[in-house]
Amino acid sequence: APAPESRDHLTIHERYGHFIDGKFIEGENHFPSINPATEEQLFEVASADEATVDTAVKAARRAYDKVWGKMPGSERAKYLYRIARMIQEKARALAVAESLDGGKPIKESRDIDIPLAAAHFFYYAGWADKLEYALPGATPSPIGVAGQIIPWNFPLLMAAWKIAPALAAGNTIVIKPAETTPLTAMMLAEIIQEADLPPGVVNIVNGAGQTGAAIVNHPDIDKIAFTGSTDVGKIIQRALAGSRKKLTLELGGKGANIIFDDASLDQAVEGIINGIFFNQGHVCCAGSRLLVQENIAEELMHKLRHRVSTLIVGDPLDKNTDVGAINSREQLQRIQELVAAGQNEGAQIFQPSSPLPEKGFFFKPTVFTEVTPSHRIAREEVFGPVLSVLTFRTPEEAIEKANNTPYGLACGVWTDKGSRLFRVANALKCGIVWGNTYNRFDPTSPFGGYKESGFGREGGLHGLLPYLEVR
Ligand code: NAD
Repeated sequence: APAPESRDHLTIHERYGHFIDGKFIEGENHFPSINPATEEQLFEVASADEATVDTAVKAARRAYDKVWGKMPGSERAKYLYRIARMIQEKARALAVAESLDGGKPIKESRDIDIPLAAAHFFYYAGWADKLEYALPGATPSPIGVAGQIIPWNFPLLMAAWKIAPALAAGNTIVIKPAETTPLTAMMLAEIIQEADLPPGVVNIVNGAGQTGAAIVNHPDIDKIAFTGSTDVGKIIQRALAGSRKKLTLELGGKGANIIFDDASLDQAVEGIINGIFFNQGHVCCAGSRLLVQENIAEELMHKLRHRVSTLIVGDPLDKNTDVGAINSREQLQRIQELVAAGQNEGAQIFQPSSPLPEKGFFFKPTVFTEVTPSHRIAREEVFGPVLSVLTFRTPEEAIEKANNTPYGLACGVWTDKGSRLFRVANALKCGIVWGNTYNRFDPTSPFGGYKESGFGREGGLHGLLPYLEVR
């Protein structure tokens, strides 16, 4: 077996404050940041109050007015390319940091999170000097100062999704990482400083919900971009009702992975596993509901149970680990509560027999069968490694069941028939449909939700538009 990934090339400071106006500043109200795989403290991090958020917004406004808002796109692109290359150069340390701070398996942070973060900067760098092509017949201009709030499931990647298009379009930024995963954002701040980005163009303030609220309510911010839970998304929407601020929301999901009887079952099993156990199921677009055609349900479930039993749960830095640590004790408790509800409501639980590590926040990959659409595990976002299996007989029933949710983020369709794939995909009320695959991401593709999964898109040309005004 390969040796676990080492932390030797990674420097973690004892305390993190904020990154404002091109400088690292000492913060206030520090709280511990925990390694979820060991429950040990990794470092302390500050929680920005309103005054600190105000300092950051003022820095962003100055940078917008004096430098960034006036800079030619070709010049802005150079900074974005530089940041992209520096992320690649520091990829190994960033991957280790992401796995230590958030609990995800190193093979995912190494092969997916960090390369995709760099890819977003490369992709949007390419747009910076071509904005007139984004909006033919009109003159695009930046919006101004963007306030951005991100979750803990893909810390660096979510930062890249937010920062790269906003900068390419000529906006300046105040961004807040999630309180449990600030480490790679602070490493990105180091990259931004080394890349010589003009001071104030990107400001990173740490803290929890109160800090987020201070950003949302700050009078001199022009646009809010939020990724997180639907509950907080609604709070933000209410807070901004009637305000001049523009808003995009990327919220929760309850994705259906639909398997027809003509699909390749072995491939579908891999897609189901990737759909729900990738990143411990802390994925807004997770395929958390499996819809399987009734006549193949028994055979598919047999294969699936076998495959689930082979998953290795444990140390995120172990290169063989498939399922890492749950991000926080609170999230673990939420998963435990919903799994207990599934059992109490009569669904049948399957978990592999292999034991979990003694320390740390771990949860076994879990598959529920005999689930009905009214069960909580079929309706609510678990945001953990928990799959709910339902069956269907006809394509119409599959579509009806897949759409029977207040969410509308992502679905997967597995079939050998191209015509069926497109017909079902077009009938699904969600922003992303994967055909014969799941959880594939690419900076060129728009990503976002229908219904209570939010509005606005990130990625591709569509991800640029919310950061532009048109004249
Ligand atoms: P969360 O809503 O609790 O927190 C998200 C962010 O909002 C954090 O930075 C948090 O500090 C901040 N926040 C909390 N309260 C706030 C308030 N009142 N005002 C302003 N900011 C506030 O969500 P989470 O638990 O961090 O993330 C998980 C959720 O994110 C899941 O529901 C998941 O589906 C969703 N998510 C969606 C997408 C997407 O693109 N649609 C991507 C990733 C995660």
